[in-house]
Amino acid sequence: MKIYVICDLEGVAGGVDHKRQCWFNGEYYHQLRRLATLELNALVEGALAGGATEIVAWDGHGPFPGGLDVELLHPECQLVMGAGGGGPAGLDESFAAMFLCGFHGMASAPRGVMAHSFAAHVEACWINGELIGEIGANLNLAGSRGVPGVFICGDRAAADEARALVPQIETAVVKQGLASARTLLAPVPMLTLAPEKARQVIRETAERAMGLIGRIEPYRIEPPFVWRTKFVSEKYTEHALEQPGVTRVDALTVELASADELRLVL
Ligand SMILES: [Zn+2]
Repeated sequence: MKIYVICDLEGVAGGVDHKRQCWFNGEYYHQLRRLATLELNALVEGALAGGATEIVAWDGHGPFPGGLDVELLHPECQLVMGAGGGGPAGLDESFAAMFLCGFHGMASAPRGVMAHSFAAHVEACWINGELIGEIGANLNLAGSRGVPGVFICGDRAAADEARALVPQIETAVVKQGLASARTLLAPVPMLTLAPEKARQVIRETAERAMGLIGRIEPYRIEPPFVWRTKFVSEKYTEHALEQPGVTRVDALTVELASADELRLVL
């Protein structure tokens, strides 16, 4: 059974400050990246114990150097590299399940830790009128290839967001915000598990999640799609309007209609 893991950095235990821990030049970036890789490895151990035979991970935190340290990667996990920001490369119908590792809630998620939707300059996104963040977009992307999302680890806001879309999904909560943030760059107080405890919870939950394969439907939003993005300032609206098919809704908001394959405007 092949599984595909989409990884991010903001939902990792011990991560609270975007600028200092998630930016490539942040002073604690390398530490959080190591912790993210060890969380992925714990997920891999759980998935293997649950029957996975091949595991592929994709680093969704951004282009090289991303949010994972290849040197620490579990020997039974393969890593997609060099795909830039071009989505989870290679995720196709040959995979039995998709796992989300190190995830965060959408922008303005209540008590979300480093909550955001794709980028700091995005205030909100909608598909067909429903608010959507990276969790929903990734579940839908996998679902459109017939692959069900069975597992998520991250903060409590991320777990709640995933369960609202896929009620059966297995969730490993490794931290929780104690207040709601105004912006991605303004850290809020949060309570985190110790990294070692987080990895234990992830391992156990990932093993359980393997049991959902064959018993859970892929999550899928039916086309046609209308994608809507609200930006934090007008300069991003102007930039988005240069892309083909994008239309203005108001000073901060744009829309893009697509008949079949969902296209994001960011
Ligand atoms: Zn990220």
